[in-house]
Amino acid sequence: MNEITPAQWERVRERLRAEFGEATFNTWLKGLAYVGTQGGRVTLGAGTRYAREYVMANYVDRLRAACREECPAIHQVEIVVQPRNAAPQPAAPGRGRDGAATIGNDGDIGSPLDPRYTFENFVVGPPNEFAHAAARRVAEADAAPYNPLFIYGGVGLGKSHLMHAIGWHIRRRQPDRKIVYLSSEHFFYRFVGALRSKDTMAFKQQFRAVDILMVDDVQFLIGKESTQDEFYNTFNALADLNKQMIFTADKSPADMDKLDDRLRSRLGWGLVADIHPSDYELRLGILQTKAQQLGGTTVPERVLEFLAHRITTNVRELEGALNRLLAHHNLVGRPITPEMAQEVLRDLLRAADRKVNVEDIQKLVATHYNIRLNEMNSSRRARSIARPRQVAMWLCKQLTPRSLPEIGRKFSRDHTTVMHAVRKIDELRMTDRALAEDLELLRRQLEG
Ligand code: ADP
Ligand code: MG
Repeated sequence: MNEITPAQWERVRERLRAEFGEATFNTWLKGLAYVGTQGGRVTLGAGTRYAREYVMANYVDRLRAACREECPAIHQVEIVVQPRNAAPQPAAPGRGRDGAATIGNDGDIGSPLDPRYTFENFVVGPPNEFAHAAARRVAEADAAPYNPLFIYGGVGLGKSHLMHAIGWHIRRRQPDRKIVYLSSEHFFYRFVGALRSKDTMAFKQQFRAVDILMVDDVQFLIGKESTQDEFYNTFNALADLNKQMIFTADKSPADMDKLDDRLRSRLGWGLVADIHPSDYELRLGILQTKAQQLGGTTVPERVLEFLAHRITTNVRELEGALNRLLAHHNLVGRPITPEMAQEVLRDLLRAADRKVNVEDIQKLVATHYNIRLNEMNSSRRARSIARPRQVAMWLCKQLTPRSLPEIGRKFSRDHTTVMHAVRKIDELRMTDRALAEDLELLRRQLEG
């Protein structure tokens, strides 16, 4: 036999699952579809271009080896983009027991989960892969693996989305566990209401009957002493019972000013995971996914690329831009082109137009690492010089519209050196916390 049978493909998948673990497998490998084998070449389908590229860059060697172990005639694996037309949908809210988003004797202590916010609809890339993996882990565990899971990051970067996704996943797998999702304003108003009606006992009881408590945007609880106390008590009660808690906020517990110290240390007990601002590839991946889900109208790739380049603030704004283009198209029938986008999105683009140039980046990075500016294009290769240079190249790639050869010229190097630098930094920042923080800080200084 010189082709992979369905049973063999199943075994290849099992091998990869065992090798890479559930989280990676689910994000990158599970969605690959077997298309066919011809002349020793296996063809697989990925849902988006982003997924294809990521798998090609990171897993294709292992994929090939695993296929080969099943069928020695295989010598090559190729991946084609094969959009799935309909993303798998979670149980619709408000239908039957499964859809019931609220619990409690007297009904609603939580808010419903948003059916759009599932893991299937969440695009993973380096800026959010840690938070995503942590969320997956919590969603798939039977007992709380980290308690609490604390996800933080800027506005519109997908914190609520991940939280809802955990909720949907658990609800599907274990419909009997009681999940409560609520915004912290909601928590606060419930609590004030209970105080007013002198019924804090019932309030406590309700929360303590919960299996999984998710409180979104906890920064709003901070500075309100009465709720901090109540929050702390509820937290302790649930932690003692080993109930899973998940929180999101705009900052890490360590950076929240008005947080009570007891609460600060408690919140940091489990796992604190951050979501970074998106990079170009992630933005493009998200746009491709959203554009596919919208169906009907096709949005040209170059328009998606234009948006991913120009709208860098957050994902919510990116989605808003795409929706606005579609609305214009549908209402007045204008074809969607980069020129049309430029016009329709004038206000958004102007806000995003704060220009950063290569020279500013070189200067700032040199100062930050305490090296001389002319080391940026010197030929020295000492680590203490080469690393900052790579950081500067990475920032140029992220923050300016310059191409790799253009960036290379500014550093007296060719584009392959820049490409290597970008890859290297992308790789290092996943494991090197201090470097990741440096990058974030530099980026903020440049953009701010
Ligand atoms: P936050 O809670 O961090 O402010 P949200 O979770 O509300 O942000 O996300 C804002 C919007 O962007 C939502 O519509 C969400 O679905 C979308 N979004 C954010 N990150 C992603 C992602 N990685 N993949 C797909 N959609 C995303
Ligand atoms: Mg949110």
